[in-house]
Amino acid sequence: MSISEEAVAAFRTAYGTEPAGLWAAPGRVNLIGEHTDYNDGFVLPFALPQRTVAAVGPSPDGTWSVCSTLAAEPVAFGTTEPGEVTGWGAYVAGVVWALQDAGYTVPAVRIAIASDVPFGSGLSSSAALESAVLTALIDLGGLDVPLERRPAIAQRAENLYVGAPTGILDQSASIRCEAGKALFLDCRSYAIEQIPFDLAAAGLAILVINSNAPHQHVDGEYGARRKSCEESAAVLGVTALRDVGVDELPAALDRLGDEVLRKRTRHIVTENQRVLDTVALLRAGSVREIGPLLTASHASMRDDFEITVERVDVAVESALAAGAYGARMTGGGFGGCVLALIDADRADATAAAVAGAYAEKGFEAPTSWLAVAGPGATRI
Ligand code: ADP
Ligand code: MG
Repeated sequence: MSISEEAVAAFRTAYGTEPAGLWAAPGRVNLIGEHTDYNDGFVLPFALPQRTVAAVGPSPDGTWSVCSTLAAEPVAFGTTEPGEVTGWGAYVAGVVWALQDAGYTVPAVRIAIASDVPFGSGLSSSAALESAVLTALIDLGGLDVPLERRPAIAQRAENLYVGAPTGILDQSASIRCEAGKALFLDCRSYAIEQIPFDLAAAGLAILVINSNAPHQHVDGEYGARRKSCEESAAVLGVTALRDVGVDELPAALDRLGDEVLRKRTRHIVTENQRVLDTVALLRAGSVREIGPLLTASHASMRDDFEITVERVDVAVESALAAGAYGARMTGGGFGGCVLALIDADRADATAAAVAGAYAEKGFEAPTSWLAVAGPGATRI
C-alpha cells in the first residue's frame, strides 16, 4: 500500500467515511548550512521523496480529531492554547492554534496521517507533519495565507505550542522546496532562490545514510548551542552571527575570550560562507566541486560546533574512503543522517563500505538510500 492509500484507509477506519482530500508534505535533507538558521544565516535544503500524507475531511461537531498510522493514540481537541494538547498531537493542535493566532478562521476537520519519513533522524518528520496539516487547513478553509508566510506559522506551532526551539529551516524546506531544486534560503529576510540541483545529469547522486544512532540529550544540547551563539553575538555587538563575515572572523575571535564561544562562532561564520560558496558552484553547474565544502562542513560540526557522534563520523569517514566527493552529517546533530556526494554508480559500493565499517565497530547496521530532490507541500 502506498502512503496515500494508507492515509485513506486510516481515515475510513477511524471516521467511517471518505476524506475530502489528501495533502502531502516532504521530509528534507539539508545539503549544507547547519545551525545557521537561528543565526539569521543561510541554508540549502532539498525535499525528500519521503513524505507525510494527511487525509482530511470536515468535522461534524466543530472539534478537531487526528489519528496516525505511527501513533498509538488518536487525539481530539477543541480550540486550545499552548500546553493543552501534549505528545504527538501537539504538532497538529499547534498548527491550528498558530493559524488562529495569526487571525485566520480555521475549519474544524478530521485528519488521518500516514508517513514514510523516519522519525527523529534529522529528516524533519515534525515539519512534514505540520506542513501537511497546515496546507490542508489553508486549502479546505479557503484561507488567503501567502506561501512565504506559511513556514513561520508552522514554526510558531513547533516553537510555542510543542515547545521545541527550532529555526525556520525545516518548515521552509517542507513547504517551499521544488522538485529538482535545492532551496537557498536567507533565514533573516526569508528570501529564497531555487537552485538547480540536477545530480543525475552530472552522473552523481546523494546517498543518505541513517546512522541509527540513539538520540541523546538532543534538546538540551540544541538549546545550549543557541545560547552560545546569542552570547557571542551580544559580545560582538551584532544582531546575529550572520552579521560577521569570514573576513571579520579573526578580529571577532580575538574579541571572544571564551574558547567555547570562539569555536561556536567559527562554525557559524564559516558555515554561512560554505553555503554561499556551494550556491555559487551549483549556479555554475559545478556540482562535483561542492564535495570538499560538504566535508569541511562536517569537520566544522565535529570540531567546532561539537554536534556529531562517533557513528556519524564513522559514516562520513568510510563514505569518503569509498570514494565519495564529499560527506557530512545533515540535521541538528547527535545522531541522525549523513549525506555523501557520490558517482551515481557507486551507491551500492558506498553503502556497503559504510555498513562494513559499522559491523567492524559493532554498531547496529545503518540504513542507506538515494535521495532525489522532490516537491514541497501540496494537495495530491
Ligand atoms: P524529526 O523532525 O527530526 O523527525 P522531531 O523530534 O523534531 O524529529 O519530531 C518527531 C516527532 O514528530 C515524533 O516524535 C512525533 O511526535 C511527531 N511525528 C512526526 N511524524 C509523525 C507521524 N507521521 N505521526 C505521528 N507523529 C508524528
Ligand atoms: Mg523536527
